[in-house]
Amino acid sequence: DTPFAGQVIVTGAARGIGRAIAELYAERGHQVLSVDLNLPPTLKGQRRLKADISTAAGRNRIVRAAHELGQVTVLVNNAAYQNAHGSVMNVSERGWARTLNVNLTAPLLLTRTLVPLMPHGSAVVNVASVQGLLAEQNNAAYNASKGGLVNLTRAMALDLAPHGLRVNAVAPGAISTEAVLEAIASSENPDQTRQDYEDLHALRRLGTPREVAQTVYFLGSAEASFLTGTIIPVDGGMTASFMMAGRPV
Ligand code: NAD
Repeated sequence: DTPFAGQVIVTGAARGIGRAIAELYAERGHQVLSVDLNLPPTLKGQRRLKADISTAAGRNRIVRAAHELGQVTVLVNNAAYQNAHGSVMNVSERGWARTLNVNLTAPLLLTRTLVPLMPHGSAVVNVASVQGLLAEQNNAAYNASKGGLVNLTRAMALDLAPHGLRVNAVAPGAISTEAVLEAIASSENPDQTRQDYEDLHALRRLGTPREVAQTVYFLGSAEASFLTGTIIPVDGGMTASFMMAGRPV
């Protein structure tokens, strides 16, 4: 399929979900440009670029590297800042600004600078979160940024359809990334914390980065040719429930 013969850009590809996405594309023979603040690992068929998506200089470097690739057939906006914890009452202005910049503004600005390099039939996939569909206490900035990204996905789908592009998002539940595993390990009672995380999902386990990558891959592929403006929860049934989905009844 032509849309899949080309090049894939994945942001935030040094670790976690982004790394799994880059690995899956590389494994399946695609040329991947992996972008991150930290240099992503070397993979066969993969080029690495150190760049900050929240700065004009960083985005320009990505666009220059994309020009060298020739064209971009899938853009995965995955990088995010997840450390500005705090409630509506106490989240810092600085943390709020950084979260919105990296998670919402940068995907907008990066996407539109790459559109001229994306042939008809290409796709953008945004990595949102269940926290863009529902909110969590003490995480106002992240919730707002992912909620914004969910509706930006729909706006992009509408505005980029005339360019022949499809735009969709995934909304992962709790995934066994380094960050989540570190948070579990450093909690007061790791076994209980892990159980609590697992019980958020009807399937009573964490998702894997690979499981998110597989859905991203599908959305970027011609298999998803009539999907645009869609948000797919990859959440083991978390948002199917209005309570702790996997808590035994
Ligand atoms: P992570 O924090 O482990 O990795 C994110 C990567 O993005 C890091 O390598 C980081 O260096 C990079 N990054 C951050 N800011 C950047 C910037 N300005 N420019 C370039 N690179 C930057 O994240 P993760 O847990 O793998 O999550 C990946 C995506 O999935 C994020 O969008 C996150 O919000 C989303 N998500 C994760 C989970 C989860 O359980 N881990 C759940 C739902 C959604």
